[in-house]
Amino acid sequence: MKNYNIDTKCVQGGYRPGNGEPRQIPIIQSTTFKYESSSDMGKLFDLEASGYFYSRLQNPTNDYVAAKICELEGGTAAMLTSSGQAASFYSVFNIASAGDHVIASSAIYGGTYNLFAVTMKRMGIDFTFVSPNISEEELDKAFRPNTKAVFGETIANPALVVLDIEKFAKVAHKNGVPLIIDNTFATPVNCRPFEFGADIVTHSTTKYIDGHGSGVGGCIVDSGKFDWTKYPEKFPGLCTPDESYHGVTYTERFGLEGAYITKATAQLMRDLGSIQSPQNAYLVNLGIESLHVRMKRHCENGLAVARFLKSDNRISWVTYPGLEGSEDEELVKKYLPNGSCGVVSFGVKGGRSAAEKFMAGLKIAAIETHVADARSCCLHPASATHRQMSDEELIAAGVLPDLVRFSCGLESSEDLINDIRSALDNI
Ligand SMILES: *Cc1c(COP(=O)(O)O)cnc(C)c1O
Repeated sequence: MKNYNIDTKCVQGGYRPGNGEPRQIPIIQSTTFKYESSSDMGKLFDLEASGYFYSRLQNPTNDYVAAKICELEGGTAAMLTSSGQAASFYSVFNIASAGDHVIASSAIYGGTYNLFAVTMKRMGIDFTFVSPNISEEELDKAFRPNTKAVFGETIANPALVVLDIEKFAKVAHKNGVPLIIDNTFATPVNCRPFEFGADIVTHSTTKYIDGHGSGVGGCIVDSGKFDWTKYPEKFPGLCTPDESYHGVTYTERFGLEGAYITKATAQLMRDLGSIQSPQNAYLVNLGIESLHVRMKRHCENGLAVARFLKSDNRISWVTYPGLEGSEDEELVKKYLPNGSCGVVSFGVKGGRSAAEKFMAGLKIAAIETHVADARSCCLHPASATHRQMSDEELIAAGVLPDLVRFSCGLESSEDLINDIRSALDNI
């Protein structure tokens, strides 16, 4: 699939049926797998042979879909998880443990911020949040001897800030750690972070990749490019024997292309069990089959709605990556030349109460804690997803208290704009 265009990979990547096999991905709805002898099975447990034994760790349906996302991102190995949250957690916890430190962009998804700043901190991992606009020199200063990774989002949800991936990758690599990029909003159709130096990519497949609001899921993809063996003292989990797996050393047995994902599967999936259900993986794949077609429409609608909002004097500000005259025009040109996403954020004049009245007047877009769906939806983050955050934290994360996040679906842009106009008329 490597030499095909991304559109072809969306449709046909991952699963390649043999003669007489099902054309569509089979749903392997089985917790367990049968073997002829105990020694056959023992080899699987020792990671000496590859195969399936228990769906808490791996399932063939999931692996077909992970392989497709891996091809889309241009990686070497990938795994599905039960949610985007699980993907974010595993991606960091696979290489950082108690006593370690991680640097993250402050412009990230509220759930990820909470996972890092509260839950993982309680596990003994310290996070420093830095502005996505930080200079290379300042970013360099944020590193400590125990820093294990840098984390950011291609397009931040909901701030819609575009990350300078190359800048973050350069400073991360200078300090001997990988850059992990949550590529949920851009999708591999619009940006492939590995092409700009990122080492690990995560997704909430719940969003555009599924695209129909049908299942919660996540994915982690490894580029296979980060050389863990150059820093064995920093990444002992990958470079020294795993006593919980009969002394296997992941980098020796699976190479740079497979070590990270094999460790995450063998240890984290085994012990924490955040596996995606094969039924959901099947739905994720159906979504991906049209991802390239849908992203185009989401982006067209996003731009049309953003332009309308910018021209309406009842709107105080509009943020949309790719809107003419936007601050991050250069970053959009570089990282998102074919389009960004369908999500637009803006402020309604009159603040919080006007925003709430506006949302109540919408007929097509529903109020939902969701984005990136075929159906348009909208949210006031300060009173929903980000309600744990103080005003200072909200502003640092680029989420103003009056921000309305509007996710343009696949409807007609004319209808969406008329709906927004009449909701503004009704305030
Ligand atoms: C939704 C989202 C997540 C979390 O994903 P879930 O599938 O809801 O667990 C992580 N990152 C981003 C950018 C998201 O939009």
